[in-house]
Formats: sequence, structure tokens, C-alpha cells
Amino acid sequence: MKKAYINPKKCDRSPFCPAKRICPEAAIIQDRIGLFGAGPAKVDQEKCIGCTKCVRVCPAAAISMV
Ligand code: SF4
Repeated sequence: MKKAYINPKKCDRSPFCPAKRICPEAAIIQDRIGLFGAGPAKVDQEKCIGCTKCVRVCPAAAISMV
């Protein structure tokens, strides 16, 4: 099964990441940096079920299925 991979160079590091919000498995994680900052989003490969919902909503087109 293919799972989501987020390219850290493309991720815009938005603290309001829509991919993180839409993921039904809460598989997308992001480090917090200070009050309003965030690190690049990452996919927990153990949790991802390969549904591709995140791929469709990422505004930076940073997510691919691999
Ligand atoms: S493919 Fe689905 S389960 Fe996997 S990270 Fe994206 S939204 Fe979450």
C-alpha cells in the first residue's frame, strides 16, 4: 500500500495545515516552534492508511503517495 510522504522542502509549514486537519487517522504531525510557528509536517507511517485525502488538500502540493 502506498503511503503519504510530505516533501519538507515544499511544505509551507503553516500552523493551520489543512492536510493535518483532514487526515482521518491523525497521522500528520508537526513540531511547534514558539507560539505561532510550526515545523514542516510529517506523516506517521504507522498510522497512515493511504486514503490520499491529504494529497488533495495540501495547498503547497507537498504530499505524494510513495
Ligand atoms: S493518506 Fe490519508 S491517512 Fe495517510 S496521512 Fe494522508 S490523510 Fe492521513
